[in-house]
Amino acid sequence: MGKILEISELGHPILRKRASEVENVQDVKVQNFIDDLIETCTDSNGVGIAAPQVYKSDRIFIISSRPNIRYPNAPELGPVAIVNPEITYFSDEKVKDWEGCLSIPGIRGLVPRHKTIKVKYQTRDGEDVENEFSDFIARIFQHELDHLDGIVFLDRIDNNKELVTEREYQRLITKEMEEGDLEKEG
Ligand code: ZN
Repeated sequence: MGKILEISELGHPILRKRASEVENVQDVKVQNFIDDLIETCTDSNGVGIAAPQVYKSDRIFIISSRPNIRYPNAPELGPVAIVNPEITYFSDEKVKDWEGCLSIPGIRGLVPRHKTIKVKYQTRDGEDVENEFSDFIARIFQHELDHLDGIVFLDRIDNNKELVTEREYQRLITKEMEEGDLEKEG
């Protein structure tokens, strides 16, 4: 069982630094850290969290995907640790959707991301994996990998007008859902 770690916030230099490769994922310190990162992700209700978000500059993040309001078809995945990740292919097609970030509380933004990606990474058991992700998981993967390169979602926004506060975001999605229901009703 891991422990809950403090989350770093925008302005702290660790969020702007390239994180280092993990040399030996099976090291007990790395394994304990992964447990703590998973615990912190679950505790904060995040769909993902990257090591720099808990003041550790290592190339590790967690994905924890489940169906939600915006992505009712999102697969259940994780919480799973992704170590030393790389994206080996990006689809030309990009999709814009809302993102938030545990390190940027109170703000949401419409972020363009590649719809489909092919990736390589290590599991926490040290196994090398290749995989293809689309839509919601591809979005989480790109957001979290950005954290390992010192990039936050604000850097990916096309237009500052596509940034909103959490309260306005909640209003927006409620409205979208109601309109969506009306469309379905005809
Ligand atoms: Zn984030």
